[in-house]
Amino acid sequence: MRELVLLGDEAVALGALHAGLSAAYGYPGTPSTEIMEYLIAERERRERQGGEKIAAAWCANEKTAYEAALGASFAGRRAIVTMKHVGLNVAADPFVNSALVAIKGGLVLAVADDPGMHSSQDEQDSRFYADFAMVPCLEPRGQQEAYAMTLEAFELSERLGVPVVIRLVTRLAHARAAVSVGTEARAQNPVAKSADKPGWTLLPAYARKRYDMLWAKQKDMLSWSESSSHNVSTPGAKDRVVITAGLGGNYYEENLRDCIAASGGGAAPARLHIGAYPAPEKAIRELCSGAKSVLVIEEGQPFLEKRLRGILPQAIAIEGKLDGKLPLAGELNPDNVRAALGLPARPTAAAASIPLPNRPPQLCQGCPHGDSYQAIKDAIAGLDSVSITADIGCYALGALPPFSVPDALVCMGASLSMAGGAADAGIKYPIGVIGDSTFLHSGITPLIDAVSGRKPITAIILDNSIVAMTGCQETILPSGRLREICVGVGVEPEHVVTIEAARMKAAENVAAIRRELEYRGPSVIIARRECLEAIRIRKKREKAESGQEGGRA
Ligand code: SF4
Repeated sequence: MRELVLLGDEAVALGALHAGLSAAYGYPGTPSTEIMEYLIAERERRERQGGEKIAAAWCANEKTAYEAALGASFAGRRAIVTMKHVGLNVAADPFVNSALVAIKGGLVLAVADDPGMHSSQDEQDSRFYADFAMVPCLEPRGQQEAYAMTLEAFELSERLGVPVVIRLVTRLAHARAAVSVGTEARAQNPVAKSADKPGWTLLPAYARKRYDMLWAKQKDMLSWSESSSHNVSTPGAKDRVVITAGLGGNYYEENLRDCIAASGGGAAPARLHIGAYPAPEKAIRELCSGAKSVLVIEEGQPFLEKRLRGILPQAIAIEGKLDGKLPLAGELNPDNVRAALGLPARPTAAAASIPLPNRPPQLCQGCPHGDSYQAIKDAIAGLDSVSITADIGCYALGALPPFSVPDALVCMGASLSMAGGAADAGIKYPIGVIGDSTFLHSGITPLIDAVSGRKPITAIILDNSIVAMTGCQETILPSGRLREICVGVGVEPEHVVTIEAARMKAAENVAAIRRELEYRGPSVIIARRECLEAIRIRKKREKAESGQEGGRA
């Protein structure tokens, strides 16, 4: 063994490599991005220095990433797919259906939730998805567990023949700790010699059998979780018992000494920590037997808490998020867990209050999106019946002052579909604002809808030639292809207009937007200018390649 300091995300990536990973796919999304960054760097290192090859690549979206991983598993290899929680909505179709196929090469989904919405539009909890798909889920509470659970997830996936979910959260994914890791990777699985067609062909006649088999596996999954070393019971006082899960276990332990002191030096509450799902029902019943109440401390939505209501007798009070002992929204922390335990607040040192101006997040000074938003603002001045639906990316910040341009922002790709719906509803000038990467992720299909329905939408693709918001990954296709795609799906070539998103071009850009707004069919404006961060990275790389500077960009 050796010790490395790793992010939670990196611990998952290294665990996958040591488990004999052959293929990794993902779509960037905070806080999951660093898993793939690590694996792509490892793929590049092996290409340069030799070693067993792996595939590791960003994909157009989470659905295609999941399906690529599924294909590698179908071929008998071990594969991981990574995404953030809302990305799993996009990948939900293959994910849920993949629970029915005959997994042979271990398939692991590493999904990172974002309680507190540090960089997301909602707080959804991926444990519900694992439960819905009826597959096991592992929830690490530290970087060491993230590494070990990933190794285990591949074994479990092959043993039970189902995909296995690793659920991370922001504070674990993005924090570093020392991790003891193995020194050697397991050899990769060989490529399967033949296909198990009935096991992989979800035609109704086969799928019905596979669905029965998935139900039959639930008993094995439960018996695995009941005996899992990640579900740990600790004896103690039985009056009010505690169930912790994931990071909730750490916050509880930070308060444990005070809990014992508050009981007059007696025993801490009896406790069950859960890191492996399905929820271990027998262990929960044993813990709660004779208890008057149980406090559930879990990061995310009240997943276990709701589940307990079907497991425990009514006489046992269930406390947690649903009764307000813990906050329903936002993250847990040692202080709100402390309050739920009935402990007095800790003394805090308050800094002298300094009046600070409010500083909302903003586009970088000189960002091309700023010039595009100004042009849109000027183009719609004086027009009635305008809607501006935007999408996910840096340009979402244009919804805030000083631009305040988009009227709505919901999810990846929705800008263009919502513009189409708004057009149908009678809005005269529906504008959809979408980034180049988001367009390739999920903007093409709504553009096809607009073409098919001859909807008078104006799609404005803000093409900054990079996936800026998640750390400047390359877009899946070069910018030059955007026009071909738009024309290829049927937008009239004269209504696919490229402009330069620059202040000095303001007058002609405003005129171009106005012209396309008046066109009564679907039109596209590609507002192109490189992201400032992309320029910095490109210049650094060019310098390194020309030998003026060492290291990688
Ligand atoms: S990182 Fe790039 S795209 Fe994002 S705000 Fe800054 S300049 Fe604009």
